[in-house]
Amino acid sequence: MNNKKIIIAIDGHSSTGKSTVAKQLAKSLGYIYVDTGAMYRSVALFAMRKSLIDLDHFDKEGLENILIDINIRFEVNPETGLAETLLNGENVEREIRTLSVSKHVSKVAAVSKVRKKLVEQQQQMGKDKGIVMDGRDIGTVVFPDAELKLFMTATAKDRAERRYKELLERGEEVSYEDVLKNVVNRDHIDSTRKDSPLRKAEDAIQIDNSNLTLDEQFKQILQLANKTIEKN
Ligand code: C5P
Repeated sequence: MNNKKIIIAIDGHSSTGKSTVAKQLAKSLGYIYVDTGAMYRSVALFAMRKSLIDLDHFDKEGLENILIDINIRFEVNPETGLAETLLNGENVEREIRTLSVSKHVSKVAAVSKVRKKLVEQQQQMGKDKGIVMDGRDIGTVVFPDAELKLFMTATAKDRAERRYKELLERGEEVSYEDVLKNVVNRDHIDSTRKDSPLRKAEDAIQIDNSNLTLDEQFKQILQLANKTIEKN
């Protein structure tokens, strides 16, 4: 048995189920899981609460000036065993997943100073390896030397349907059209921004999960992870 720990970077389009598979993988390998989207979502929520962003205005400089006041960390909920997001000590796990935060987050995530702050924290979290991190720039920017890189994608329709069901289950009143528009819009902003655009790292393995069940996908990825750990 090889005990050497590796870094697993999972990137891809919005709502491809990255975090579901990343969580399962971390649990079965005994690794730490970090959801970097939750960090960008927390900064967006902070900006919304300070009225620095709404649908037709964004005070980018105002946000840059108060980045110092933002502290994001994760804490395991003892009841569920899952990590939850704390923004300046307040549990915002539910609030950051709402469609209204999704509508602003990509604009906030395009700001270089925001990315610099969060990327530094993410690199620190992975310094001892044994980590599964999901996001948009993990294999390209945060951990370009990660031993295993995955890039997940699926059709926009499949992704929007998944996200729509999730939001309904959480009791949010949203329309499918709105969710689809958001998924497509976020992909567009994320892939065309200047700083760390969403793209597949050259050495990432692409997984299109449009036609895969969660179980099939997990087995495939676990096998890849075990093979990579053996090799290292
Ligand atoms: O992963 P999730 O969909 O929660 O991410 C929300 C948003 O945060 C993305 O649409 C993207 O704008 C931003 N993000 C990013 N880089 C990451 C993770 C998320 O720019 N590493």
